[in-house]
Amino acid sequence: MTIETLFCDARERRLKEKVNNFLNESLTPIQEEINQKKEIPRSLISKIGKEGLFAPLIPEEYGGSNLGMIAHCIITEEISRRNVAVSVTRTPCILDGYTLLRYGTDSQKERYLPKIATAEKLCSICITEESAGSDAAGIQTLAVKEGDEYILNGSKRFITNAGIADYYFVWALTDQKGDPHHSMSVFLVEKNTPGFTIENPYGLLGLNGVKNGILNFKDVHIPEENLIGPEGKGFQILMSTFNIERITLSSECNGISLAALAAAKKYAKTRIQFGKPIASFQAIRFKIAQIATKLYAARLLTYSAAKLANLGENFTKEASMAKAFSSKMAVEIALEAVQIHGGDGYTDQYPVERYLRDAKFFQIGGGTSEIQNLIIAREELKEE
Ligand SMILES: Cc1cc2nc3c(=O)[nH]c(=O)nc-3n(C[C@H](O)[C@H](O)[C@H](O)COP(=O)(O)OP(=O)(O)OC[C@H]3O[C@@H](n4cnc5c(N)ncnc54)[C@H](O)[C@@H]3O)c2cc1C
Repeated sequence: MTIETLFCDARERRLKEKVNNFLNESLTPIQEEINQKKEIPRSLISKIGKEGLFAPLIPEEYGGSNLGMIAHCIITEEISRRNVAVSVTRTPCILDGYTLLRYGTDSQKERYLPKIATAEKLCSICITEESAGSDAAGIQTLAVKEGDEYILNGSKRFITNAGIADYYFVWALTDQKGDPHHSMSVFLVEKNTPGFTIENPYGLLGLNGVKNGILNFKDVHIPEENLIGPEGKGFQILMSTFNIERITLSSECNGISLAALAAAKKYAKTRIQFGKPIASFQAIRFKIAQIATKLYAARLLTYSAAKLANLGENFTKEASMAKAFSSKMAVEIALEAVQIHGGDGYTDQYPVERYLRDAKFFQIGGGTSEIQNLIIAREELKEE
């Protein structure tokens, strides 16, 4: 409860209770079924959207609740501690909604934001390519202006929500010869646009239920009114969107860690060996102590980055710290939770194996831990 006391006002605490009650009814009963069937029901996503949980960062005039970043962390943690794949499906909608809100025109916001806010339409954020992973400026997808249209050619990989999203926010070069940091632009590509095809070849280690795939663009005609923000400013737009992504992913990690701690405590108190609950053995008690401490530190980092965002301060370094640390902690915590469960932990009869498989994603997606450390070092060395 301490994190809430430190960071949440009365409205945010009420929100947490409301979200908890809602998710206890809608998500908790099927959190394991989603993992086993590897399918997230669209009806669940719609329910979560209608409850307003896709829209904490979107203003009321566009159908959102405008509750801010702390509220976003609360919602993200609460969804993630039940089933993080559901939260990962929601994340591109949060990010594209933010991008549109910050950089879109009034008519783009009016047209698209209310549908994103309620999850009536799902989103994808499309940057990664064969040549552009950690180096986002290495993209080769090209958008060439012809009259009042752009002609898009190229391919994206590892794209979350590929096939189920309606709106794809695609980063492409609008000037092939210039410095890519000043030659990238963002386009909203609607599904079913001629020349735009999707493949889903990947099986994933974790995140069961998340759809991930490859996007191909062959002479796709995009109307110029689908350009988001100024032409050539795509890299700068991406950097600001990444800051929001890092806080979101940190909260997803902390959701996994909260669930792993709860599972470890429950198991340790009920599993009897040598005539006693294993929670009475110092080796197990120390593991619980370490898990609780790591989780507390990860949440402090995440909520303090969110607080900076709410205050309108720069939070680039803090968001990267939170993401790198929370993801490392989630992997370590899930691993220890498996260990506390012994043989049971290695089976699919207990959720801790899922937490471990899911946690690993977060050291890779949204910028690897190595890239977060490059950013932290860059920002730290800038300061005097
Ligand atoms: C499940 C999943 C979902 C994803 N969803 C999306 C999505 O929705 N949209 C999207 O655009 N992308 C998405 N991605 C892609 C993800 O963002 C990239 O995988 C990630 O940024 C790493 O890029 P890469 O895989 O090409 O690895 P690479 O960049 O090839 O990195 C390989 C290794 O080298 C290290 N490395 C690279 N450069 C450096 C350096 N300069 N210094 C030190 N180490 C370095 C990396 O840290 C890593 O360990 C997703 C990925 C996965 C697995």
